[in-house]
Amino acid sequence: MRLFDVYQLNQIAPVRALGSRLWDEAGVEYLDLYGGHAVISIGHTHPHYVKRITEQLNKIGFYSNSIINPVQEALAQKLGEMCGHPDFALFMCNSGAEANENALKVASFYNGRAKIVALKGSFHGRTSGVVAATDNPAIVAPINFNQHVVFIPHNDIAALEAAVDDETCAVIIEGMQGVGGVHVASDEFWQTARRLCDAHNAVLISDSVQCGYGRSGKFFSHQFSGVEPDLISVAKGMGNGFPVAGLLIHPKFKPKYGMLGTTFGGNHLACAAALAVLEVIEAENLIAHAAQMGEYLKTAISQMPGVVTVRGRGLMLGVVLEIPCSAVRDELLYKHHIFTGSSSDKFTMRLLPALSLKKEDADIFLEKFRLVMEKHVAAVA
Ligand code: PLP
Repeated sequence: MRLFDVYQLNQIAPVRALGSRLWDEAGVEYLDLYGGHAVISIGHTHPHYVKRITEQLNKIGFYSNSIINPVQEALAQKLGEMCGHPDFALFMCNSGAEANENALKVASFYNGRAKIVALKGSFHGRTSGVVAATDNPAIVAPINFNQHVVFIPHNDIAALEAAVDDETCAVIIEGMQGVGGVHVASDEFWQTARRLCDAHNAVLISDSVQCGYGRSGKFFSHQFSGVEPDLISVAKGMGNGFPVAGLLIHPKFKPKYGMLGTTFGGNHLACAAALAVLEVIEAENLIAHAAQMGEYLKTAISQMPGVVTVRGRGLMLGVVLEIPCSAVRDELLYKHHIFTGSSSDKFTMRLLPALSLKKEDADIFLEKFRLVMEKHVAAVA
């Protein structure tokens, strides 16, 4: 059987990884400023993570959600303490799309409505409900298309005020749009969304799949605005590569048996991985580190030739170039062996390294990036 060919592949096959480094079959070393798409939070194969997952696997790896799972309870407890929403409840699942899909369901069960307000440039996943709320018609199949989603321009307060009404089920916002090219939702936008949702009994959802889990320099990027959403979806960095996701649910939503469910979600192994991630984030103070390293990179990159601006916070940066970024990224990868990310805007390159990125590694990136940009800017001049 061959693979269903839906991914445009870099011609590299990593076989080993550690921290912010990867190695291919020939032993060539790569620096990872992409984190496997914002997934690697504590660094590849962190020893504590490997140990915790191995120990768990030797005890019990999986049982369905029909039994008491103390590892899931321990994770909910620790996540609540660390993330700043200790009174929320946790529902566990397997991917970012599933977390958002469940967010829309919880919201709709709550107020009995269907209309969703989403933002232009958004990405919320590829499953039925959330792909309809994703601003990319190319990935919305006819069966996914529905009449319930209203898209408004990013950070447009007047459009938000016009869109949210007594029919609105939920407003869904990425604190920093990832795929869209790292656009930060303004404090005023969050605060207006909160006020309007309260006024109309609509539900405010923070899609924190990419910008959450410390990547912004706070646990959640909505925390910069002082706003408390009703539902928060998490995935990516939560498991450092282990497929695990969750929905954090405000106490005003009352659970009912059978309301949500999953076979694999919240299994012992996934919870051990997620606990290991939180333990390392705490022990190594990685959220403060991400804030510092993000500022360091942002300041340095802003002064580079050919850079228009740098958007974002912490270690989620959108570097806007004067030229399309594909040639720059290819040269960084194939000549200097550095992974970076793209976005839906061809001029915006994304940096999504591990939160544990070392300053020495940031400096290597900065040195090589300068070389590449000097060359490309000279070629255009
Ligand atoms: N939401 C956001 C903001 C994302 O960036 C992504 C994935 O890139 C998703 C949801 C979907 O997550 P998954 O690919 O795990 O389904």
